[in-house]
Amino acid sequence: MTRAASKIRLLMLLRRQGVTDVEVLRAMETVPRDAFVPAPFRDQAYEDTALPIGHGQTISQPQVVGLMTQALEVGPKDKVLEIGTGSGYQAMVLAKLGRRVYTVERHRALAREAEQKFATLRQHNISVRVADGLRGWPEAAPFERIMVTAGGVGQPPPDLVDQLAVGGIMIMPLGPGHRELKVVRIRRTVDGLEREELWPVRFVPLLPDIVP
Ligand code: SAH
Repeated sequence: MTRAASKIRLLMLLRRQGVTDVEVLRAMETVPRDAFVPAPFRDQAYEDTALPIGHGQTISQPQVVGLMTQALEVGPKDKVLEIGTGSGYQAMVLAKLGRRVYTVERHRALAREAEQKFATLRQHNISVRVADGLRGWPEAAPFERIMVTAGGVGQPPPDLVDQLAVGGIMIMPLGPGHRELKVVRIRRTVDGLEREELWPVRFVPLLPDIVP
């Protein structure tokens, strides 16, 4: 099957799985996932599966990217913070929907590779930082939208919640343990925080500090 055909098949599968927002589908149609997948796995780039990107990390499953992006309700004026750049794929999908994306990664090599890809693909509204994402990106806060793409345990990281604008939405996998994660959506209203548990999910762990 050609790359174009396997991409169309994936987009149809995403729709059946509940990714119905046309802007999200268009963003996922536009961003070449094969450019974010290491060469040995490139023929699987349009299958609905997570794939290894080195350093024990993975590019997320397209279904998870689609559903989490849709649940974030990103609009064209939104400044978006992503924690866990990884391959950079999710950041680029967000960059097609929002005004600007700030993405934080604890592995320097992954951050640098992702930055290269954004430059090659001429996606100029993404800023990458090597840091502990649990601290957020205070100089650029507040953010209308925040997405964490690694699984947290316990409470949502307080610095991230602090950096969420009033009217803002944050999406993150969260659980009592790393094997029992659920996608959680937090909205900041004028009255405080509202929290919804959306669906179970699997993710690599959110870990503190940068990798030395
Ligand atoms: N969004 C990525 C997938 C992320 S995998 C993509 O589209 O490819 C999760 C990533 O989160 C990994 O790269 C991991 O190194 C990173 N990560 C985990 N804990 C982190 C932290 N505290 N700060 C920043 N990045 C973190």
